Amino acid sequence: QNALLSSTGTTVFTVMSALAVQHGAINLGQGFPDYEGPEPVLRAAAEALLDHRNQYPPLTGVPELRGAVAEANRRFYGLEIDPVSEVVVTSGATEAITACLMAVLDPGDECVLIEPLYDTYLPVVRMLGAVPKLVRLTPPKWELPRAELAAAFGPRTKAILLNSPMNPAGKVFTAAELAFVADLVQRHGAYAVCDEVYEHLTFDGWSHIPLMTLPGMRERCMRIGSAGKTFSLTGWKVGYITADKSLAPNVAKAHQLLTFTTPPNLQRAVAVGLGMDDAYFAGLSTALQAKRDRLAAGLSALGFGVLPTQGSYFVTADFRPLGFAGDDVAFCRHITEAAKVTAIPVSAFYAGEGAPTHYARFAFCKDDAVLDEALGRLAAWK
Ligand code: PMP
Ligand code: GLN
Repeated sequence: QNALLSSTGTTVFTVMSALAVQHGAINLGQGFPDYEGPEPVLRAAAEALLDHRNQYPPLTGVPELRGAVAEANRRFYGLEIDPVSEVVVTSGATEAITACLMAVLDPGDECVLIEPLYDTYLPVVRMLGAVPKLVRLTPPKWELPRAELAAAFGPRTKAILLNSPMNPAGKVFTAAELAFVADLVQRHGAYAVCDEVYEHLTFDGWSHIPLMTLPGMRERCMRIGSAGKTFSLTGWKVGYITADKSLAPNVAKAHQLLTFTTPPNLQRAVAVGLGMDDAYFAGLSTALQAKRDRLAAGLSALGFGVLPTQGSYFVTADFRPLGFAGDDVAFCRHITEAAKVTAIPVSAFYAGEGAPTHYARFAFCKDDAVLDEALGRLAAWK
C-alpha cells in the first residue's frame, strides 16, 4: 500500500467532530455553519435538479457558473477573466487545491508552504513528489517572516501556496505582504496557488486582496474560491478556479483526472448565488463579524487570551491563563469531554517540530444561542 497514505492520520476535523458527537458536545471545531445558505440558492438547486438536466456537465463547468465566476472577478476585484478559457469549476476547493498543484508541480520541484497550514496541502505536495519548503507564522502576531520566506525560495521553487484569509489564524494578508510575495514569485519564475475560500468573510474594514490582482501576477496565480464558504453551504463542495488561459488547460486536465465534473444543479445554483446583490455579500461578513465578537468577548470574559481575527470562521485563543496543565490536543479533548464544547488544537496546522501548543481554534459560524450555550458550558466547567 501507499506509504504516504498509510502514514497520514485521519484529519483532525473528522476526529474532533466524532469526539463531539460521542460526548454530546457543541461542535465549535470543524468549520461549518449550523444555519442554511440563502434561500434563492437552495431553490435554484432544487429547480435545476427537476429540470432533467442531470447528466455529465461540461468538464470545466456549466457556462452559467463560469460566467458568474468571471463576472464576480470583475465586480469584486476588477479582474477581466474569460469565462470560457480561464475558469475551471471543481468539486470543492479541496479538489481545486490538488488540481492547481498538479497543474504546475513536477517531481523534485519545490513548493513553498506557510504554516499554519490547511491539512491537505502538505500530503498533496508530497504525493506529487514535490519538495515542501515550510515557512512558519507564529501566534500571537502571525507576522510574515520576510527573510525566511525569501530564503525558502530558490532555483527549484515552482510554486507557493498562499491562504488568505488564513485558516486558522484569521489573518488577512496586507497589500505590502502580498507585494513581497509577488516579487519573490516573479523573481523565481514561479506560480502561486491562492486558497481564497474565505475571500468574502473579512471584518473590521479589512478587505481581501487577491494576489492575482498585483502587477505581473495575473499569469502566475491560480485563485481558488468555494461556494461552501461564500454561501454557507459547506456540504455542497463546489469550488472554482480562476487562472490565466496559459495555466487553465493544465488545471482542467488535473480536474479531468480527479473528478472530471461537479453536480450540474449545484453549479447552476452557485451561479445564482454569485449573482446576488452586494447587500448579500456585505450582510454575510457583517453577520459573521457579530458572531466573532460574541464568541471572542465571551471567551475573553472567561480568561482566554483571544487573538484578533480579521477574516475566516475562526478565533484562536490562548488557554494558558485558565491554568490548564497540558497541551492543546489534551485541552481540546478535555473540554470536549468535561465542558461538552469542542475546539481544534492549533498545533494540528503545523507540520514541523516546535509548533505552538497552547492555542485552541473555535469556530463562530453558529447560531447565537449555540455560541451562548457553549460559553455557558465553558463557564460552568471552569
Ligand atoms: N481551504 C481552506 C483554508 C479551508 O479552510 C477549507 C475548509 N473548508 C477548504 C480549503 C476546503 O473547501 P471546500 O469545502 O470547498 O473543499
Ligand atoms: N475547513 C474546515 C475547517 O477548517 C474543515 C473541512 C474538513 O473537515 N475537511 O474546519
